[in-house]
Amino acid sequence: MPSLVAVELHTSPWHAHIACGLLVSEGVHAVVANEHHVWANWRLSQALGGVRVLVPAAQLEQAAAVLRARDCGAYGDALCQAFGDAPPGCRSCGGRELTYVRDPVARSVAFVMTLVFGVSFAPAIIGTTCRACGTRIRAAH
Ligand SMILES: [Zn+2]
Repeated sequence: MPSLVAVELHTSPWHAHIACGLLVSEGVHAVVANEHHVWANWRLSQALGGVRVLVPAAQLEQAAAVLRARDCGAYGDALCQAFGDAPPGCRSCGGRELTYVRDPVARSVAFVMTLVFGVSFAPAIIGTTCRACGTRIRAAH
């Protein structure tokens, strides 16, 4: 039985499953571990060490390379090419590092819902901000 090692940790099971799906699609035998206690109580995710994406030790380098390519935007660029879209970037300077801007009211509601009911959700994204020049781009609706 091959030994499994963690290639990535996530606070949310859905992000771990997305990473796992990418690895599997690239031929890595990846699995998600420790997700059920986080599904039961998301607030404990950090305390319990998060949700792990495990791969066989022999495939660790291959898995890390796939995840590095993901982080550098290689898969996003391939999708843009396949569908004829321009890659996401700043319209002012062409910078590729954008951060999401979330609705402040929805952020407050999400915070209260998490504290009071233990239910979390991602607040709506209303735009992006370029890390290089600070230009703010509103999301198209
Ligand atoms: Zn910019």
